[in-house]
Amino acid sequence: MYMSVFNRQWEKSILQWCKWSWDPITGCEHDCKYCAAIEVVRKWYSQTRNKAYSSFSPRLWPERFDAPYNTPIPQDNTSGNRNVFLGGLGDMFGDWVGNEHIEEILNIIRDTPQWNYIMLTKNPERYLDFSIPSNCWLGVKVDRQKEVKPAIDCFSRIKASIRFVSCDPMLEWLHFSTLECFEWIIVGSQPKTKDKQAFIPPSVWVSGLARQARALGCKVFAKHLKDSQYKEFPGKD
Ligand code: SF4
Repeated sequence: MYMSVFNRQWEKSILQWCKWSWDPITGCEHDCKYCAAIEVVRKWYSQTRNKAYSSFSPRLWPERFDAPYNTPIPQDNTSGNRNVFLGGLGDMFGDWVGNEHIEEILNIIRDTPQWNYIMLTKNPERYLDFSIPSNCWLGVKVDRQKEVKPAIDCFSRIKASIRFVSCDPMLEWLHFSTLECFEWIIVGSQPKTKDKQAFIPPSVWVSGLARQARALGCKVFAKHLKDSQYKEFPGKD
């Protein structure tokens, strides 16, 4: 009988700040040109020919709902060992996802406080429609300067144990008027995809943002960048 569990992430995987991922909802309509999630789904389809992976249309996977209960809990809770990236193959808070589906996932999260769930969206206003459990970190994806102000405006109203901004990929030099509404910042590059060349942000962009963040007590994590001095997690490890 099929028993769903979280996906283990390894050091060299596309995620570096989570040891696990869980995708009870997949698909996205934001259409970011650099989307690595589409690449993953395409790869699965080419390997399995499973029709479920033949498009990136939003989809619910109820058969994955019991993964938080079935995955053995790591004894060691350092460096993100219990961090689970939720919904990385889509945007769970996209406008196209029904409230009832989001509530269903939030109830499972409440019921499994042994895990720390990390959510990321390009539509952060939607966080405000829900009561978010305390074992969640909430993030917003910002890759261009025009997205900075809306993210700050929204996160100034959001309450969560950890709030973070993911500039992954950092496609432009980014300036934040404040970072006080974030406890963590992730900076990353654009990996090479079928249609796009890789893009590595200049180190001066990364160090400038990291300096501003650290001065405000915000932790910094640089993903797949040579500048490995930034590997910090927020809160207590
Ligand atoms: S928000 Fe994420 S999943 Fe959606 S298209 Fe952009 S990169 Fe892909």
